[in-house]
Amino acid sequence: AYMFLNGKLIERTKGKIDVEDRGFQFGDGIYEVIAVYGGRPFALSDHLDRLFESAKKIYMEIPYSKKELEDGIHRLLHVDKREHCYIYIQVSRGISPRNHIIPQRISGTVIIYLLDPIREKENWKRRGIKAAITEDIRWLRCDIKTTSLLGNVLVKQKAVEKQASEAILHREQRVTEGSSSNVWIVKDGLLRTHPADQFILNGITRKQILAISKQQRIPYVEQSFTVDELLGADEVFITSTTMEVTPVVEVDEVKINEGKPGLLTKKLQWLLEREIQSQCFD
Ligand code: PLP
Repeated sequence: AYMFLNGKLIERTKGKIDVEDRGFQFGDGIYEVIAVYGGRPFALSDHLDRLFESAKKIYMEIPYSKKELEDGIHRLLHVDKREHCYIYIQVSRGISPRNHIIPQRISGTVIIYLLDPIREKENWKRRGIKAAITEDIRWLRCDIKTTSLLGNVLVKQKAVEKQASEAILHREQRVTEGSSSNVWIVKDGLLRTHPADQFILNGITRKQILAISKQQRIPYVEQSFTVDELLGADEVFITSTTMEVTPVVEVDEVKINEGKPGLLTKKLQWLLEREIQSQCFD
């Protein structure tokens, strides 16, 4: 397997990062995970746009253009041929003597390599998952896709301890998102998800689902909901690049839709698959 490290294509095991890389010491970096289907990246330009937006929000310059990153990705997919996988891109602020102050005139460390798909994905998509409600202990800039993920790691662990596959997070009883996904409910035919503000990551899959809903005239609102509304919903699902549309059939021991994936959830799942099909296969 290969990787890009600062523009050079090398064997993955040969990649070395300095101990004073700020990504390593401060989590001072940003990243993207992009799905590959049929050997082609899905929604690549949306992901690269978000990478550059994240960079801007943390006063960081990415040492390559979008075009250069795109070319790198395509070269990597050419040497590491895979039908289905995920592209991981990370840009850290770079190497500098340890100090909190943002250093000037250093160049970011850029890595790109491929991740394997999640083994359980198809099963989870078909049967639905169990989720655990957890307090959102993260910071107030969840709109930045940063590699500082300790908060996300700790809430995911809480869910795993409760035999759940995802943590659904709330701030003072208002549901924000999942530890690595966006959360949606359906009540009386209305689709609802948290607005894209500082409390959630504006998911690319979320964006796809909103566009599909608009096009299909499925009524939706970008409006937060409470934990009680979540538990009383007709359907619950999560979205992410790796999980696509995955039904949530149980939340903290409460069965949703009698423990079965809901109708609208399945419809959106299928419509997203169709979109992937049209962008990556035809
Ligand atoms: N929210 C968080 C905290 C995430 O980490 C992710 C993705 O991993 C998402 C939402 C979903 O975003 P996307 O659909 O762009 O993968």
